[in-house]
Amino acid sequence: MLIQGVNLGWRRRENKNDMGFPIHPITGQWGGEKDLRGDAADEDGPEVGFVKITPFVQDRKNALLMRFLGDWRPEQLVSVKNAIKRGIEVTFQLDGSEIAAELMPNEESATALLLYESAEGGAGALSRLVESTTALKAVARTALEICHWRWDGEMPMLEAQLINTDPECEAGCYRCLLGYHNQRDHDVIDRKLPELKQWLLDLARAELIGQGGVDGRSEILDRLQALAGSSLERLWLDTIYRHGHNLPDNAQQEVAGHYVTPDFTYKQACAVVFIDGPHHEQPLQQRLDQQKRQALTDAGITVVVFTQDTISWPVVLSEYSWLFGEGSQALAGSKASIEKPKGSLGEALDAVFAEHSGLLGEVQS
Ligand SMILES: [Zn+2]
Repeated sequence: MLIQGVNLGWRRRENKNDMGFPIHPITGQWGGEKDLRGDAADEDGPEVGFVKITPFVQDRKNALLMRFLGDWRPEQLVSVKNAIKRGIEVTFQLDGSEIAAELMPNEESATALLLYESAEGGAGALSRLVESTTALKAVARTALEICHWRWDGEMPMLEAQLINTDPECEAGCYRCLLGYHNQRDHDVIDRKLPELKQWLLDLARAELIGQGGVDGRSEILDRLQALAGSSLERLWLDTIYRHGHNLPDNAQQEVAGHYVTPDFTYKQACAVVFIDGPHHEQPLQQRLDQQKRQALTDAGITVVVFTQDTISWPVVLSEYSWLFGEGSQALAGSKASIEKPKGSLGEALDAVFAEHSGLLGEVQS
């Protein structure tokens, strides 16, 4: 992410609309407000005076934006900001200068927290927070401990149940949230803020579900490929992935109470997918499949079957587009593939889809 920092002027300036800092364009010297007015002695003559500039920096950094829902007051978020920053530093063993935290859009009306890796190259901590389902929980837990809170046994549900381990520390000390870098925040920081404690507790106890970006998708694919039971199933996964359809949540997971293990599961949509290899074409197996799958349908579960005849797959995918999604442009008839085919298998599949794009168009329209 491209981060731009603009220094609008002194925080305590009287007129907030008056931005920038006086600088002399020839000598490069910073000046004061009095230099702008031209009443300072100036050997460069009257024609060249001080002008105001607004310095800014920009750089590409790993960044993470946390948005806060609910009734947070901006000053409460100052404590949240410092607790999260310290939590990340301790959890990932980073130096205080490696992670920057800034309230957004500004401190006075903050509703979000922008974290970015200030070190060149980045330590990768922020990616971990997004990709791992446990990292953010660990950060919250660590932040509570940093703020001198502990608990006996399981984590409590309510902040009032947390035990104060440092009665001498009131709102904050240099062992918890105060540091040399955040002196401006010292007056506002309060480690005992009930909203802060409860939020950290909730976060530490939460179940985190990744919604998956491009990286998330390839990670899910890898996990599912490892679980897949046959090469036909792996081919199906590859097809789903490459054509931008929704990936399943799980593979080879038994449906509770039905003694059936579908090849893939879409948990949210309450749907299961069977990829039937050659042995499913035997009459006895067909009868068994039919019975078991009917039972699932009767239980309200959507059952989608793909046969080994891969040519029929695009039709099934578009028939259940509410489940698999419309897919990327590549499938919808466009010859341009979004991703490079992985190899001969991918190319062969593209050929199959291209061949049937007319049929697919017919079904979709
Ligand atoms: Zn303290």
